[in-house]
Amino acid sequence: MSTQSPDRKVIYGTPVVEGIAYGPVTWTRRPPIPNLTAPDIPESQREAEKKRFIIAADAVVESLSKRAQSSDGHAAALLEVTASIASDPAWRKEARRRITAGTPAVQATMGATDFFVAQFERAGGILAERTTDLRDVRDRVIARLEGRPEPGVPHPDHPVILFADDLTPADTAGLDPSMFLALVTELGGPTSHTSIIARQLGLPCIVAARRIDEIDEGTHVLVDGQRGTIVIGVAEDEATQRLESDKKRRELIDSWQPPAKLKDGTDFELLANVRDGETACEARDVGAAGIGLLRTELCFLHSHAEPSVQKQREIYEPALQAFPDTKVVVRTLDAGSDKPVPYATLAEEANPALGVRGVRTSGHNPHLLLHQLDAIAGAAKHCGHTQTLVMAPMISTLPEAKWFAGLVRDRGLSPGIMVEVPSVAVLAEQFMELVDFVSIGTNDLTQYTMAADRLSPDLAEYSDPWQPGALALIARTAEAGRATGTPVGVCGEAAADPLLACVLVGMGVTSLSVTPSALKAVGAQLSQVTLEQCQHAARSVLGAWDQGDARYRARQHLGV
Ligand code: PEP
Ligand code: MG
Repeated sequence: MSTQSPDRKVIYGTPVVEGIAYGPVTWTRRPPIPNLTAPDIPESQREAEKKRFIIAADAVVESLSKRAQSSDGHAAALLEVTASIASDPAWRKEARRRITAGTPAVQATMGATDFFVAQFERAGGILAERTTDLRDVRDRVIARLEGRPEPGVPHPDHPVILFADDLTPADTAGLDPSMFLALVTELGGPTSHTSIIARQLGLPCIVAARRIDEIDEGTHVLVDGQRGTIVIGVAEDEATQRLESDKKRRELIDSWQPPAKLKDGTDFELLANVRDGETACEARDVGAAGIGLLRTELCFLHSHAEPSVQKQREIYEPALQAFPDTKVVVRTLDAGSDKPVPYATLAEEANPALGVRGVRTSGHNPHLLLHQLDAIAGAAKHCGHTQTLVMAPMISTLPEAKWFAGLVRDRGLSPGIMVEVPSVAVLAEQFMELVDFVSIGTNDLTQYTMAADRLSPDLAEYSDPWQPGALALIARTAEAGRATGTPVGVCGEAAADPLLACVLVGMGVTSLSVTPSALKAVGAQLSQVTLEQCQHAARSVLGAWDQGDARYRARQHLGV
């Protein structure tokens, strides 16, 4: 029997990647920000100060480039991006301009960075996400100027649990998964950079754990990436037991094989979210039954001119060919907000998430949608693909849905819409009369239901699909699907959370579409539960008080 320590303490955060880890904590913190203002330096020292700045910035470029050369794949690309920011001529020029005017190099670095951060945030989307890299470069250059080592993740010689206020792409690039047992951050949300890296490395991860600053370096903690708990004072034998049962869970995931079935033999459709032919092949290799979301806008994030219909066809065809005999759901351009497409998005919008994005871009540019539908229809015909479905993102009104469905049917394809705007969930039955299927985008549905920017590191608790308000709208949509005989899929991140996937199936969702790296974990979890358990869990979460209570209720019914 395990003895419970009198000092046992539990801290809660938002769980992102399942798994148990036990070990000592190692902290990495962003350095404190120096004073923004400082006395001017004498004119005679300004040239030398500019040189000091250039030497510091060059040293940062060199250290990041060296790390990029000794890394590969995604890590190398991330490090190269950060290095390119440190050598950016416009940013350097702005800092030098400030030093010429008398500002010391440290404050000039801060001022130049703030200037570009504000510009990037105004531009929104991918550029707004670059502000993390920009601030990271600032901290590295200032550390060099002050004669300190660059901030970053430590290189431990034994496995540790990494605690951080937040992690930047450069911090986590090349992170050695054999030395880090889990990642826990004070900030960040389910779609933050830390979460993406943790999923890729398969490391248990909790974000938005607000009170971890109470935990000192070296303290042994048990991290539960499903419950979102960090426990201090766990007895060794209890930790060993928890790790053993987690090992079984991992083995179950590794051995999972399609077809996707519940424990009682009930079938469900387990599809994949992909961006192109290559990721479609990855999805096929891990056992996806088809594609539930082809995010076409991701192919065009760097295109300044609309690609020709022929060019678009060539991009879509490999994805159809990866699944020649099964369902492929192609989503039309979801341009705008977090995914700006230069040729389709308005340049300046005060509030891009509530602006001209998704199907709304067709208002000022209807030919873009018509050309894209021609390309999708052409690709399907050329490949002899008979199960090509097309859905529109960001539909919010009945006339939009009717118009879109007509255009898709005219081309011999099957139309659907995404449920991302609460108005669609509220009027689900009426929308379902117009289309062949719907797919719930829980990332945006949660964002719009909770009025919380899905990219904000400070609002992780709101951007959580376990929020009872979001769950109620999902359940409402699934119920409308049952009543009207319309297939209802989920293709947001919620479907990739194995516990929530069970709840969604219990609500009556007919297909789940997940990122290929999460597919086996979802398949394995669902193979352990019956439809009746899923239905009980689904009913119970609807009475939940908050997102933590919803998770707790689901676990009670699902026995996990
Ligand atoms: C969603 O909003 O849940 C979704 C799947 O679309 P995206 O994440 O691409 O906006
Ligand atoms: Mg969306």
